[in-house]
Amino acid sequence: MLLRSFSKKIFRPECNPCFESLHCIAYLDQNIEPVLPYLNAVLGGFEYLNDPPAVVLKSQGRLITVQGGQIAINALKNEAEADKILEWLQREINAAWDNNVHIEPRYQGAPRPKVIEILKRLPKTNCRQCGELTCTVFAVRVAEGAKGPEDCPALGDETKQRLGEYMGQFDFDD
Ligand code: SF4
Repeated sequence: MLLRSFSKKIFRPECNPCFESLHCIAYLDQNIEPVLPYLNAVLGGFEYLNDPPAVVLKSQGRLITVQGGQIAINALKNEAEADKILEWLQREINAAWDNNVHIEPRYQGAPRPKVIEILKRLPKTNCRQCGELTCTVFAVRVAEGAKGPEDCPALGDETKQRLGEYMGQFDFDD
């Protein structure tokens, strides 16, 4: 077992103390840096940073950053939610470490959709029926996962399917 214990701190973001959501930092009692590329491979990290090494995960609108000595989580409803995520991460970290000989380490984030590829599959009329100023802005929103093919009323069944197939290659967890 790599990660045996940690302590945590729950706080409201200093930039906006009235903000509804909470932040959590878990201070790890063991250095888990060696497991990070394996954890990234298993969980399909949104981003992988090399210096210092960190796996960034996106889940249900929140960001989770796992580093060698700490885990940071934002946009939490309450402490119980933080505990649930930390317990899950501890299990994943230890499982990835125990099985690392069977896992190909990954030093990059998960592949992401390209705005240009999305744009190619849109009508490019800038008709604004989707509520965005241009098709390019809409394509950026789709690439972020904030909008989908169903949000462009100008797409026909076939073109909607083409865009859906392209986007289907990527994981959007939030
Ligand atoms: S509704 Fe579709 S075609 Fe019209 S601006 Fe939005 S993305 Fe472009």
